[in-house]
Amino acid sequence: MVPPSAQQPLPLSQPLVGVSRCLLGEAVRYDGGSRHVPWITEVLSHHCRLLPLCPEVEAGFGVPRPPIRLVGDQERIEVQLVEDPSAYRTDQLSAAIGRLLPVVEQLDGLILKARSPSCGVHDTPLFDTAGESTPGAGLFTRACLSCKPQLVIVDEQALVSEAGRVGFLLQLFRRHHFPTL
Ligand code: SF4
Repeated sequence: MVPPSAQQPLPLSQPLVGVSRCLLGEAVRYDGGSRHVPWITEVLSHHCRLLPLCPEVEAGFGVPRPPIRLVGDQERIEVQLVEDPSAYRTDQLSAAIGRLLPVVEQLDGLILKARSPSCGVHDTPLFDTAGESTPGAGLFTRACLSCKPQLVIVDEQALVSEAGRVGFLLQLFRRHHFPTL
């Protein structure tokens, strides 16, 4: 689905928000599905410019594709195929993320998909050698925060409640219009 802001360009005075493509209703998930959040395409799109992003499609993994997971520790994180632990996709995904970062530098905020190995904000499992997992950010999200720490980043779960949506909008417009406050 093409967000309205892509059909009728909004003024540059509107905040620029990167959004996981699957949340815009695009069928780009590993299983060929999407996780459309209507509030983003039907409400937010009239007030912000939306920029669709999908690191895994950018990496050329295709749709559908074998699921991946993050393994390692905070010092070194690898991208592993869930169904073939001997296979890694770290280099491909890291290169794709590197290509997206110049765009990320232009953003005011990001809305990303929870729990995704690429896009998760705080609940993506990172597996250690014993198979135990700890929650954290996905690989793309980590790179975005390193690139631009002042970005306003939420996942779709933070937008379920009205309080969450209002809080996101307040942070976003403050960041866009009063960046030094
Ligand atoms: S969560 Fe991120 S990487 Fe996964 S399909 Fe959505 S946009 Fe693509």
